[in-house]
Amino acid sequence: LNIHSTALYETAGRRMGTLIIFHDITRIRRLERMHIDFAANVSHELKTPLTTIKGFVETLQQMTVKNELKEGEAFLNIIEKNVDRMIDLINDLLALAKLERLQGTKIQLEKHNISGLIQGAVSNCDFSIEKKNISVSIDCPEDISAMVDPGLMEQAIINIVDNAVKYSPEGKSIHISVTSQGRFVDIMIKDNGNGMNKEHLSKIFNRFYRVDRARSRNEGGTGLGLAIVKHIVQYHNGKIDVTSTKGRGSCFTLSIPA
Ligand code: ADP
Repeated sequence: LNIHSTALYETAGRRMGTLIIFHDITRIRRLERMHIDFAANVSHELKTPLTTIKGFVETLQQMTVKNELKEGEAFLNIIEKNVDRMIDLINDLLALAKLERLQGTKIQLEKHNISGLIQGAVSNCDFSIEKKNISVSIDCPEDISAMVDPGLMEQAIINIVDNAVKYSPEGKSIHISVTSQGRFVDIMIKDNGNGMNKEHLSKIFNRFYRVDRARSRNEGGTGLGLAIVKHIVQYHNGKIDVTSTKGRGSCFTLSIPA
């Protein structure tokens, strides 16, 4: 129930009474929940057959390698790549649906060391960091902590670091620094990669918005990474800012209440 009240006055200024409006929003809430549950159900249902397909593709791959059927191997590799893409997409859709369900609920946050979260996020991206020969430096005082859901906050940092790697040419560097300013902890992730023009910056947090669709696809992007980050940050009552220069690099700053 949404309740609004307002005082009513006569023209002479004498108070006449109070107007109270009761707005029953049960139906709206129920529809919202159905929509979110539907997304989660669809994602689950899609994932089961894909996992089965992937299992059989892997078996066939081993069989064709043995039989030296070179074409079969190439086709199976394409099928596998596309199955992996769909699994990534479904996982991201599921993550978004879960976050939407959390919105408006009471948040369960715990005091957590930020340096640990950053180390965890960077090791999660180790494979792609090494593959592209990127150097990562971290400047985070050990004693900085904030009220977070550690799993979600680590995921947000992973998504930003993963992008910094994806949208940087080989051999570039990424710098992560953390400062504590009054009531907020700022986590800055700066890359020297491709960067973006200003007009994209307000849109990149929308689902499926990509500056360069082909490049994102090539890099294995789902177009949902930053939408997930935005939800996680909102859930923490924080904010996210981005600055970028095309051809020079980007800097994402996560500010979360200490
Ligand atoms: P994707 O899966 O495509 O990476 P995201 O939601 O994570 O989706 O990011 C949206 C878009 O924002 C990307 O497709 C890319 O064009 C742009 N982007 C995000 N991070 C960076 C970055 N560090 N440098 C340059 N472009 C970026």
